[in-house]
Amino acid sequence: MDGKLIVISGFSGVGKGTVIRRLMEENEGFAFSISCTTRYRREGEVDGRDYFFLSHESFRDGIERGRFLEYAQYSGNYYGTPAQYVFNQMARGTHIILDIEYQGAFQVKEKYPDAVMLFLIPPSARTLVDRLVNRGTETREQIRSRLAQALTEADQAEHYDGILINDRLEQTLADILRIVEEPKCAEAYRRQNTALVQEIKKDINGVLKTW
Ligand code: 5GP
Repeated sequence: MDGKLIVISGFSGVGKGTVIRRLMEENEGFAFSISCTTRYRREGEVDGRDYFFLSHESFRDGIERGRFLEYAQYSGNYYGTPAQYVFNQMARGTHIILDIEYQGAFQVKEKYPDAVMLFLIPPSARTLVDRLVNRGTETREQIRSRLAQALTEADQAEHYDGILINDRLEQTLADILRIVEEPKCAEAYRRQNTALVQEIKKDINGVLKTW
């Protein structure tokens, strides 16, 4: 049987990277789709492990050659999923995880309606701001841009199959595994957490006013 396509989106700083890493460490049969990006490499990131870091020119060349399953612009840079790797993994029966933002996520869903689409949210706006500040990889201005972006992303959450609160890691992992096994149960997670998305949005707006 073909592996499933699992799309994980969520605000910058929500902890997607950790969730995905642990999901793969603790479970067999999952692979991560390494994206291409034109953004600068953050300290500690490795080319070919975290991303394939490309020039704008190489990225545009990839677009012209049809190498991306999806691609989008985010905070002034291109991000895209190399198609071939995803196809190979699925054909081998491996579940393939995509950490991508909503424009790309919807392109994937259109091509693969069976893709499992999950949106991760923090337990509160404050947790998100603290995580962004504490990881220390962005300037204050970049954090502002990512918080502003989160407001736009929040409006897309309800179009995902499931909305999961990433509060306790073990719980998040269990929730994801449950949904991968039984995609229909994603809807319950969406219904349950839609109101919290709006609350977080309101609070981020408040934070931005005094940023
Ligand atoms: P970051 O710069 O923090 O690594 O990622 C910024 C945003 O780009 C995140 O929301 C992440 O999910 C998204 N992203 C990463 N890779 C891809 C990709 O291949 N395609 C799309 N559409 N978004 C991506």
